[in-house]
Amino acid sequence: FILAYDPARRLARTQVGLEAALVNARMLYEILDTEPRQEDSKDAKVIHVGEGEIRFDNVSFGYGDDIPVLRELSFTAGGGKTTAIVGASGAGKSTLIALLQRFYDLDSGHIVIDGQDISGVTKRSLRQSIAYVSQHPYLFEGTIADNIRYGRPDATDEDVRDAARQAFADEFIREQPEGYDTPVGESGSTLSGGQRQRVSIARALVRNAPILLLDEATSALDNESEARVQAALAGATKGRTTIVIAHRLSTVINADHIVVLEQGRLVEQGTHAGLMADQNSIYARFHNLHDEAALGLVDDTVETAIV
Ligand code: ADP
Ligand code: MG
Repeated sequence: FILAYDPARRLARTQVGLEAALVNARMLYEILDTEPRQEDSKDAKVIHVGEGEIRFDNVSFGYGDDIPVLRELSFTAGGGKTTAIVGASGAGKSTLIALLQRFYDLDSGHIVIDGQDISGVTKRSLRQSIAYVSQHPYLFEGTIADNIRYGRPDATDEDVRDAARQAFADEFIREQPEGYDTPVGESGSTLSGGQRQRVSIARALVRNAPILLLDEATSALDNESEARVQAALAGATKGRTTIVIAHRLSTVINADHIVVLEQGRLVEQGTHAGLMADQNSIYARFHNLHDEAALGLVDDTVETAIV
């Protein structure tokens, strides 16, 4: 990880950040796309998610022919539990989340949800079972209500408000000039970072999906916003299988399970206490060195700014 401080390596990491942002944008659009472009196979079934247990079984994947990005990755995200993925920039965290939504086909291995291999289910039913909150909340041109309803186009006004309440957003939305009908986006009303995040959490909540994928925000918010965003997220994870790309130590510590990735391989897994109990674990060593970059707990954009 000393290499991370080399200027050339830094530039490479900036590039990774850009690519990841593009993947995120693509994910956001595709998840909202109710008719996936690629056809399903004729015998594809509708997925039924109960407990919501997610199993990665020997998953290998690369974007090109040459460089593997995930290597023989196996772990289980327990149904209704929160699994935190940690690892340095480029370790493969966002790729893992993309594969779970079938934006790409695996090179080998299986991803199985409640016993159903996701390669055998319709993309539409898979994506309807999943809500995704991106690291960078994106607001479309339209009203606040429109922005929440993007999560589920047939949501009623009451569903939209319920989701906003759960996301601790209802109060500030009602204080806007036109309440839920206030225009936002490029040319609309300006919301603070924390408010945008809560709108994007409401958008995920209105889907009422059993699986929540969360790419935790890294940008600093003021204390009050921070507390509300955290409370909204804590509520959102209740009763759902959550996989979170963790950028906050508190998220990692509170997770039911932690998966440590290094260059696409799972190198360790366990609870915070379990991993810390072995002072020679990679996880414990990075913690003790306060090497937050090694665990993916620092903001890429901050690093980019230092280049
Ligand atoms: P992380 O989220 O842990 O930072 P990513 O999953 O974004 O890691 O990236 C893992 C590796 O895959 C990196 O080397 C990155 O450059 C590469 N990568 C990510 N997205 C793409 C893409 N769309 N095309 C090609 N390579 C990609
Ligand atoms: Mg990423």
